[in-house]
Amino acid sequence: MSYEKIARMPEYQKVVESLDAFRRALEDAGSSMLDDFASITLFAAGSAAYRDMCPECKDPHAVYAPHEVLPDGQKGVQCGYLCRRGHRWSCAWARRA
Ligand SMILES: [Zn+2]
Repeated sequence: MSYEKIARMPEYQKVVESLDAFRRALEDAGSSMLDDFASITLFAAGSAAYRDMCPECKDPHAVYAPHEVLPDGQKGVQCGYLCRRGHRWSCAWARRA
């Protein structure tokens, strides 16, 4: 299988760069989560639709993907967030992914 068409996409190049940085950060942290790397990256891709701004920091340049996405009824999800300063919040969304 060739990824020639995909590899030409600028989005793919950004993903590769980000995933490599993420993999290195996991290694540096000595995380055993490397075993779950594929699961984490799939979750991360799906969680992108639910990014949110911290309601306490109110920094529009700092948008966070949830660390938790739970089913909430038939058409909704409940997302849990944690910002870099340690604020936690949750938000209910209509299912997007
Ligand atoms: Zn915050």
